[in-house]
Amino acid sequence: MPQQLIAGYNRFRKGYFLQRREELSKLAHGQSPSIAVLSCCDSRVDPTIIFDTPPGKLFVIRNVANLVPQCENDGRPRGTSSALEFAVTGLNVSHIVVLGHAHCGGIKALLDRKSDDTNTFVDQWMAIAEPVKQNILSKNYSADDRYTACEQATIIQSLDNLMTFPWIEARVTQKKLALHGWYYDLHTATLSCFEPEKGKFTQITYDE
Ligand SMILES: [Zn+2]
Repeated sequence: MPQQLIAGYNRFRKGYFLQRREELSKLAHGQSPSIAVLSCCDSRVDPTIIFDTPPGKLFVIRNVANLVPQCENDGRPRGTSSALEFAVTGLNVSHIVVLGHAHCGGIKALLDRKSDDTNTFVDQWMAIAEPVKQNILSKNYSADDRYTACEQATIIQSLDNLMTFPWIEARVTQKKLALHGWYYDLHTATLSCFEPEKGKFTQITYDE
């Protein structure tokens, strides 16, 4: 048994839970988050910590490199697509934030893999972003900048792919749902948001 988790659970029961017992027990009646966040599985990027949000406020979907596949209804099980479907059509969230990050292992695997390499589940999953990789490789980025550029470009691809789901496209058109692409830098904890009209990421200002 991982003792680190048991110790953490004990701290949670004595601290967080006791201080918020009433509001946490109300959550047993149901959830109504208005924001969905799609982030990477990376242990260093935890949306509820970064956005300082209590339970019940964020519907969090996590996968390798925060990718969104195109809408394909081929009868195969689809983890990310089903979570998105529930967030949008079940919970009626009004925002979806795709949260990418610096030093993403999934993006590194994408850039370092050979295009025809499909040996692992990560390779097969990251193939979603193969067109992004090819576009990045066609430009003259330095080795370091290439990773950042690819991390940010896959966020934009995820935003584009979200729009291939008809129930997302319809709600965005009706202005009932807004899509956001954000990028988190691990070194400085800075957050940048994609501005479609400028075609670039701009750092979000914060209070000191
Ligand atoms: Zn990652």
